[in-house]
Amino acid sequence: MAVLPPGLTQQAFDQAIAEFRAAIGEEWVFTSDADRASYLDPFDMGDQDDHASAAALAPSGVEDCRKILEIANRHKVPLWPISMGKNLAYGTAAPEMRGSVILDLKRMNRVIEVNEELGTAIVEPGVSFFDFKAELERRGSGLWMSGPAHSWGSVIGNALEHGVGYTPYGQHVETICGMEVLLADGSLVRTGLGALEGTKEWQAFRWPFGPGLDGMFTQSNFGIVTKMGLWLMPEPEGMAGVSIRVPAREDFHALIETLRPLRMTDVINAPYTIANGWRQITGGRVRSEVWDQPGAISRERMEELLAERGQGWWSVIFNLFDSPAALDLRLDKIRRAFAEKLPGATIDVQRWEQGQPQESWMRQEVSLAPLGVVDWGGNPGGHSDFGPIVAPLGDRAEEVYSIIEQRFLEYGKDPWIGMFGISSRALIFVADMFFTRTDAEETERCRRLFRQLCDDMADIGVGLYRTHLRFMDDAAAMHRWGDHALPRLNNRIKAALDPNGILAPGKQGIGSWEDGE
Ligand code: ADP
Repeated sequence: MAVLPPGLTQQAFDQAIAEFRAAIGEEWVFTSDADRASYLDPFDMGDQDDHASAAALAPSGVEDCRKILEIANRHKVPLWPISMGKNLAYGTAAPEMRGSVILDLKRMNRVIEVNEELGTAIVEPGVSFFDFKAELERRGSGLWMSGPAHSWGSVIGNALEHGVGYTPYGQHVETICGMEVLLADGSLVRTGLGALEGTKEWQAFRWPFGPGLDGMFTQSNFGIVTKMGLWLMPEPEGMAGVSIRVPAREDFHALIETLRPLRMTDVINAPYTIANGWRQITGGRVRSEVWDQPGAISRERMEELLAERGQGWWSVIFNLFDSPAALDLRLDKIRRAFAEKLPGATIDVQRWEQGQPQESWMRQEVSLAPLGVVDWGGNPGGHSDFGPIVAPLGDRAEEVYSIIEQRFLEYGKDPWIGMFGISSRALIFVADMFFTRTDAEETERCRRLFRQLCDDMADIGVGLYRTHLRFMDDAAAMHRWGDHALPRLNNRIKAALDPNGILAPGKQGIGSWEDGE
């Protein structure tokens, strides 16, 4: 069934499509149902058709994008830029506004530069983690990529969405240094020192004369990112993979208080992951094999399963990066801190040194394996995450954790909760909701749970790190301070840069959260 951009007649849309075809070539304009279906979100928490696109365009480069923008402005056709379009759990390739036209940037896939001396690179949107890893290997590079849990997406898409990895460069948005951005009116800008002709410092330093604008184009709809500079880590001399089992629910406060100083002083020099009990019982089985009653898996049953597997109520994993001798010192500090504050914890360590083959615990391989968990709850499975940003203070983390765990149980969902110590001063909680996509009651319950949690968190001043398309207005509306001064500012910038509202309308609630309230 045909889907049209809001406000456009079939005739006006047909005219725009004819112009897109003439501008970028017949074969790069996709309008068939089968083509459009490939941009639907396979994990949507509801009817996929709510976020159906009207067509898709695949430009070959910046000049094609410019032509597309000119046509889109004239006909008021909303465009939804994607890089690889694998933003799984958050909307995949689908647009926030039904009837948007996907601007699929996959064909722009050059690794433009890898600078071995400065440890930097410049990539285009269609460079996936698989491609980038292969290119670094092809060049015999001494630099390491930091990839997310599953590697299907692009380097640019993941960094723009504030994605995370497991090396010291694991907060990917902080590795961005300099972008090239196409604005809605067709003007092309280079941020940072890229604004100087003949620059050699574009990827060396973020702060130009005047405001640093890179952040403004992340999780935003202010422009199309056509190139991104980023920092890469020199291969370390050694690594240690640490995995810690912490026995009891009551240990949580002490665990957070133990990890924070270790991360703040950089003894733990990469993001750590904490998993609660429910999150640890999924491996190797499906849910119906361990629980056949209505509602969430009870705490008692979950603890039984943990005991069977010899796991603790909390598990912590992280990797350390340093020379072998320095790793010994780091491990010694970690062991002493745990012995003092959490003597019941068990610590296991694996080691790697330069020259040895890589192993799976190092998380250096590109992989799709983590996606397997999606069918845990039912088939066809879907999932989305509730992801608050929380200070790593025992009291605060406990406050947020208890609210989320209790709400999940109340709504009959397993509290499958992880926490990522992405930086020295922030934890991202990731509370996953798994559901059977064809179960209307369950998906509706998940949506209610999500919105309930948005209210709960806004009441205690906690915001979200990222959301699925369905909840972007809800997440934006949580920023209440000063009569929503920040979302209002975003709306004002949007109106100034994109008066026709053609670039990713509704993304991050920018331009639409007031209607959504
Ligand atoms: P990935 O490449 O990791 O699969 P996506 O392509 O799905 O990620 O991108 C995630 C989101 O980031 C998109 O929905 C879009 O809102 C935004 N985005 C991705 N690439 C760009 C880009 N080049 N310019 C502007 N926004 C982008």
